[in-house]
Amino acid sequence: MTRTTPPRPVDPEALFPDLAAHRGTTTRLHPRPGEPTVADSHVGGPLLWPADAPWPVCTQPHRRDRGRRPQDIRLGRFLGEFWLRGGGKPAGEDKRELLRALEDEYEMAGLEDTEPIPLLGVAQFHRRDIPDLPAGPDGCDLLQLFWCPFDRHGETGYGMNVELRWQNSDMVTDPLTEQPEPAVVGYEGYVPAPCVLHPEQVTTYQYAGLLPTELQSDIEAWEGASELLQGARLSYQYHLSIPPGWRIGGFASWHVTDPYPMDCPSCGQAMTLLLTVDSSEWDGGTYRWIPVEDGASAREREEGSPTNVTVGRWGELNVFGCPVDPAHPHRWSVQ
Ligand SMILES: [Zn+2]
Ligand SMILES: [Zn+2]
Repeated sequence: MTRTTPPRPVDPEALFPDLAAHRGTTTRLHPRPGEPTVADSHVGGPLLWPADAPWPVCTQPHRRDRGRRPQDIRLGRFLGEFWLRGGGKPAGEDKRELLRALEDEYEMAGLEDTEPIPLLGVAQFHRRDIPDLPAGPDGCDLLQLFWCPFDRHGETGYGMNVELRWQNSDMVTDPLTEQPEPAVVGYEGYVPAPCVLHPEQVTTYQYAGLLPTELQSDIEAWEGASELLQGARLSYQYHLSIPPGWRIGGFASWHVTDPYPMDCPSCGQAMTLLLTVDSSEWDGGTYRWIPVEDGASAREREEGSPTNVTVGRWGELNVFGCPVDPAHPHRWSVQ
């Protein structure tokens, strides 16, 4: 099923003709629960990974010997959904007891702080499915996302560890069938639920704080006036500029940190947004980005987080790539 973003409540370029110079495209991925295979673009499904290639691991020093088991997290989600839909008939107390047991943490005795643990395979994206996905190095056409399931990296000791890999999908003739994963994870929000994608390319506009000052002032004046005219404040950020949800390409939002330069560590070139992982597919405030096909009832059904992935403080992860050479290292920001 296709997914269609409703038109914006006003035409941004009719209001602000100068915005045309700051227009771009982004592909909303619209992940929805499903059963993706290695051949598909997806979140949370099996990755098309060569059986003879080493699986990415985390070697950064941090505690990794205590957490919840990924299989418990998946079973807890399944049972929660199943019972919500009226399946099964265990008594309320039995349900609670089982769900509580699935939240137990386990200790992995003897797992040293530097012992390599497999990264979680999070998602993969084929260029054939996603118009805004640039070509990878050496003609690679499949981008894969991995992360460590602990929040204990970097200078602060609370950062993420994110890795991207490119594949040439035609060359992976003998894919891995059993995917490695860590025995325990530090945080449930890092374990993605299997979702198929319904990519939709839409128009997007640069983050407000990165527009020319004069245009920013015009937008602020309009936001104030919209409240007087329509009784409800329209916002450039939430109604016009950058759609929420998982997406490929376009512009990054900087609503938490304010913008800071994202230059390529190899060549110094200003990097461009490659992909966004979002904790929610639409804003709790406006709901304006819910696709037509999902209908307003999606809001009541609380279907805003089909992937079960949560990054930052219910925020988003923006991963940037080098526009000069896709083999150059990636950088990211959490908003
Ligand atoms: Zn790690
Ligand atoms: Zn570069």
